[in-house]
Amino acid sequence: MADLTFPDIHELKRFGFAPGSYSGKCRSCSGHFIADKRAWTCATCASAERDAYNRLTQDERRERYERNVATVEKWFAERGRAGEPTP
Ligand SMILES: [Zn+2]
Repeated sequence: MADLTFPDIHELKRFGFAPGSYSGKCRSCSGHFIADKRAWTCATCASAERDAYNRLTQDERRERYERNVATVEKWFAERGRAGEPTP
């Protein structure tokens, strides 16, 4: 388990971890963790992801952002507009 200070906990939300009391399986390491209902990674993996992100250059961050936007746009294009029920 990562040694996390209070500010770190809040910083990790955008990388998939928030404190809580729900049991889950980490999407990165498949380990068991206790966190917020909507968390998708354990604190250790979220911390590693944050550290990796912080090492990216500004251009690499922009490329990642544009790639993520393209992925979401493709997802909606394949399934119809937001708000419509998916089959
Ligand atoms: Zn993990």
